Amino acid sequence: MPRYDYLCQKCKKTFEVTMTYNEKDKGLKPKCPTCNSSKDVIQVFGNIGIVSRDVKKTGTNNPPSSCNFSGGGCGCCG
Ligand SMILES: [Zn+2]
Repeated sequence: MPRYDYLCQKCKKTFEVTMTYNEKDKGLKPKCPTCNSSKDVIQVFGNIGIVSRDVKKTGTNNPPSSCNFSGGGCGCCG
C-alpha cells in the first residue's frame, strides 16, 4: 500500500498514513493523531521519491528570418 505524508496545520505536525488508492481516490482525509481532527490536515509531498515532470514546450520562439544561426553575426540569438 502506498504511504502518504500529511501535515496537521493546527499542530504543525507531520504524520504518515497508509491507505489504499481506493481510499485516496475517495478523498479521504486522515485524522491527526495529535488533535484527532481532519479539518486542518493537508497532504504534503516532502520526502516521497515521486517527481512529477510536466514539462511542456509552449510557444517555441522562432528566430526572425534575418537571424542567421550558422553565421552568428547578428547577435540577436545570444
Ligand atoms: Zn493536529
